Amino acid sequence: MDFRLRESSEARRAEVRAFLEEHMSLALEERVYRTGVSHDAAFTQALVDRGWIAPSWPVEFGGQGLDPEEMVAVGEELRLADAPMYGIGTTNMVSAVILAVGTDAQKTEIVPKALAGEIVIVLGFSEPEAGSDLAAAVTRAERDGDEWVINGQKMFTTNAQIGDYAFLLARTNTEVAKHKGLTMFLVPLDQPGVEIQAVFTLSGERTNIVFYNDVRVSDAWRVGEVDGGWRTMTVALTNEHAAGFAAVIDRLLVAAESWARESTDDDGVSRMEDETVREALGRTVIDLEVSRLLQRRVAWMAEAGETVIAEGPMSKLFSSEALKDRAQDMVEVVGPDALRSYFDPSAPSHGVIEHMLRFSLGTTIYAGTSEIHRNMIAQRGLGLPRSG
Ligand SMILES: Cc1cc2nc3c(=O)[nH]c(=O)nc-3n(C[C@H](O)[C@H](O)[C@H](O)COP(=O)(O)OP(=O)(O)OC[C@H]3O[C@@H](n4cnc5c(N)ncnc54)[C@H](O)[C@@H]3O)c2cc1C
Repeated sequence: MDFRLRESSEARRAEVRAFLEEHMSLALEERVYRTGVSHDAAFTQALVDRGWIAPSWPVEFGGQGLDPEEMVAVGEELRLADAPMYGIGTTNMVSAVILAVGTDAQKTEIVPKALAGEIVIVLGFSEPEAGSDLAAAVTRAERDGDEWVINGQKMFTTNAQIGDYAFLLARTNTEVAKHKGLTMFLVPLDQPGVEIQAVFTLSGERTNIVFYNDVRVSDAWRVGEVDGGWRTMTVALTNEHAAGFAAVIDRLLVAAESWARESTDDDGVSRMEDETVREALGRTVIDLEVSRLLQRRVAWMAEAGETVIAEGPMSKLFSSEALKDRAQDMVEVVGPDALRSYFDPSAPSHGVIEHMLRFSLGTTIYAGTSEIHRNMIAQRGLGLPRSG
């Protein structure tokens, strides 16, 4: 069995590295960490110019038609560099849903602008009382002639402050089972009645609470059938649940290795000679390898036309939990200095270890928490009954 990527995929990796050398400057990295916003207009434009804004999309839609394995190489390099891709990721995710179920007018209006990097689309799913259980959403959309009137509150709408549209999950029917009374809308965020309030997470990522007070949206912005929102959203979430964090573990490993090589203990002995350090590095290498293979299996299945069932959740669950555990190990072996942050010039490995400690916690929550992923693996993979 050969687990390596094909030569053509490795060639893509080299191209992405060269691109990042040119466009992922330290100044940009600092801006992303300072603002907590994983989106940058100039970087996005550079990707557009290179034809890489949506490289997996078919050529006829403006992509490059890269296959899932090539996308693994591209994604690994972008994540290893912590490139500002979050806004592009959500925009592409929603554009793909519009291509699948949107109207011709929506496709014409949205998709070319998304591919030109001109718009940002954000995800308006979670609510204060509906995160893991999204079907419990209570944000209301009520019909008024050719328009809908939206009232409610969404939590964690990341990038709403720079977003052009929110892909909004709203309740349109209270008389049916909760999954059956939901509808999706693309809500222009410059509408009167939209109020955006900043929330900063532990890792410094900027997200938002968004209030919708009598926000009027034309029926032309409804995506999919009335009360058919659950099916529309499932298309979007399937991709999210297949996320993996192998390349982020790699970023942690690179930072920890460079610290171990460059620093010495009080007796002047290289930290690399310290057994505890070597053990922590070894565990990280193993977790990185397992995470990579789980992620590559998902890509391989997609390429082979197989349906990904529990394999996507396994990849997301294992890699995010491993990232969290290994970041904690690294802080322990490095000691108090590991808690110096990115903006402290004396921080080991440029503050990456400290950032990973905080960043890793969110990875076990968004795109579905670890508990929800364990439930999915139990139900879909093992055929166990639903938990309560
Ligand atoms: C940094 C960040 C960015 C985010 N960005 C977005 C975004 O852009 N758009 C968006 O819509 N949302 C976003 N989210 C929200 C994210 O998807 C939710 O936080 C997540 O789905 C969990 O929902 P919750 O926070 O309401 O927790 P809850 O669902 O209330 O869960 C609380 C706890 O209970 C556990 N739990 C819940 N149900 C079960 C069950 N059935 N079985 C076992 N355990 C259970 C959970 O695992 C968790 O530990 C973001 C979150 C973060 C942290």
